[in-house]
Amino acid sequence: MKGKGRDGGKVQELLLGWERLRERGDVHYDDALLRTRSLDPRDGRQAFFLVYNSGRRRYIEAVAKRKETATCPFCSAFEGLELGAHGSLRVLPNTFPCLPYQFVLSPAEHVTTLEAMYLEDAVSFSGETGMEVYCNGRGAGGAYAHLVFQASARHPRAPRQDFLAKLQAVPFAEGGGVTAARFGSPVFGVKLTAPSAEQTAALVSRIAKESAWPVNLLFSHHDTLLIPRNEVEIPDGFGAWRFGVLEAVGKFICQDEETFERATYDVLHKARQEISHEDAAGQDGFIELVARAVSGLGADRGSAPSAPSAPSAPSAPSAPKEVLS
Ligand SMILES: [Zn+2]
Repeated sequence: MKGKGRDGGKVQELLLGWERLRERGDVHYDDALLRTRSLDPRDGRQAFFLVYNSGRRRYIEAVAKRKETATCPFCSAFEGLELGAHGSLRVLPNTFPCLPYQFVLSPAEHVTTLEAMYLEDAVSFSGETGMEVYCNGRGAGGAYAHLVFQASARHPRAPRQDFLAKLQAVPFAEGGGVTAARFGSPVFGVKLTAPSAEQTAALVSRIAKESAWPVNLLFSHHDTLLIPRNEVEIPDGFGAWRFGVLEAVGKFICQDEETFERATYDVLHKARQEISHEDAAGQDGFIELVARAVSGLGADRGSAPSAPSAPSAPSAPSAPKEVLS
């Protein structure tokens, strides 16, 4: 199932599988409840995409009322819902998606760290399906300890000029065919362009483990965005709404109708800046870490791939505070 290049048959199979689960009532999505807005400042900056789905809202409320439990949903709640496998990852539906055709890629084992093996499969899934694959870890908008990637197809109403299309990134390191470029606006981060999923995975795994900051990840075609996060997961005025990588790249999955209707470009722009690292010395430290990893890539090659660590012991129980966003 793993391979190079776009696989239209695989995408078709996944979309049909998703539809089948929706018809069966296992995926709770109603197109009639979906509302979207595009906010385009028309000054050269990226247009924002706002999404609100009242069907999902009811689920968020239900989850909030549910009793705290130590059960990890990705170890127990997806039986019979697998749409397939991609290497080490199960392909699951997001059962309460905001937008149609949202998927979850997750190991069957309770893995909590970004091992290269899983990263490589997440990157190659993006390459084969053309979907954006992203990861919100703990401290970076994610609610789960279990390693989870999310994947979604582009929505037809989403603005064409997305974050990547508008991004101004300055290259600072090169090695083994990989280029690392730094961007500082509208949020701080690094864009990696690598010729293979294997290289991307090795780099990202190393950087994520060595970084003192939690990092949001987005894989799109040959590009990977790493967006380090400060301690702010919920910007001022956003209630219990944690910002993940989608918000960082200008796609706001709104948790309440009022925010969806009233949000202005400036308010969202400011909120997005609140989650970004602005400390110059800290930024330089992160850039140094990436540069070291990129230059070490060639040196590491040829050595035996390190085995993924054993699944770690369950971490402190915590009920999901929100569904995947
Ligand atoms: Zn788990």
